[in-house]
Amino acid sequence: MVNLKTAEEINLIRQSSLLVGKTLAEVAAAIAPGVTTLQLDAIAETFIRDHGAEPGFKGYNGFKHTLCTSVNDVVVHGIPNQTPLLEGDIVSVDCGVKWNGFFGDSAYTFAVGTINNEVRRLLEVTRECLHAGIAQAVQGHRTGDIGFAVQQHAEQHGYGVVRELVGHGVGRNLHEAPEVPNFGKRGTGLLMKEGLVLAIAPMINMGTRNVKQHRDGWTVSTADGKPSAHFEHTVVVREGKAEVLSSFEWIEKILAGKE
Ligand code: MG
Repeated sequence: MVNLKTAEEINLIRQSSLLVGKTLAEVAAAIAPGVTTLQLDAIAETFIRDHGAEPGFKGYNGFKHTLCTSVNDVVVHGIPNQTPLLEGDIVSVDCGVKWNGFFGDSAYTFAVGTINNEVRRLLEVTRECLHAGIAQAVQGHRTGDIGFAVQQHAEQHGYGVVRELVGHGVGRNLHEAPEVPNFGKRGTGLLMKEGLVLAIAPMINMGTRNVKQHRDGWTVSTADGKPSAHFEHTVVVREGKAEVLSSFEWIEKILAGKE
């Protein structure tokens, strides 16, 4: 069942989502060759708890960490570990926060040091896919319009769009109806109304769209071993233009300072 959020609920989801953005900025500041994803996870958990909030992923279906950290060919749901990040890696960091009963959810793919131009392009295009999807999250459009826009943009660049994992509603639960695929046909899917809160989350592969599930029950990586990127925002459907509830603003400030 799909539920539309009240203004008060949207305010709470916005607060949670903005805290995710600030948490990802703390992570951004720490990312460097030699740092482990477990260290990033500890930074994120401490930051969230210092704000009186709870990590949204910890305990979800038995997941033990605050972040999903997905390196290079890992698409999503990578488990933080003790392997140091290397110069030239990319790491997709997905974070959820629960605060005052409501979740926020956002993800950003970071470069570790200097990455090659081909991978940099993947990150740029995946981010453009996110914005193409968000542009469709308006009253009167359908969820298939979001998927269509994401898929079109990714495939124009020869990239593969992951089918097995999708965006989703967000609210009192981390994952709510409806599903928001990153592929699809225009004019299909749920008719969206003002107050529908969605996590739009393109997962775009440099090569094949096919993925493999690892035996740890979480990690999903590309079938061909080529890199994958993931950007995600929590947004609310509005008339005319979606409102983005999460923010990359703090991340960008940190990244600009690192250059
Ligand atoms: Mg999500």
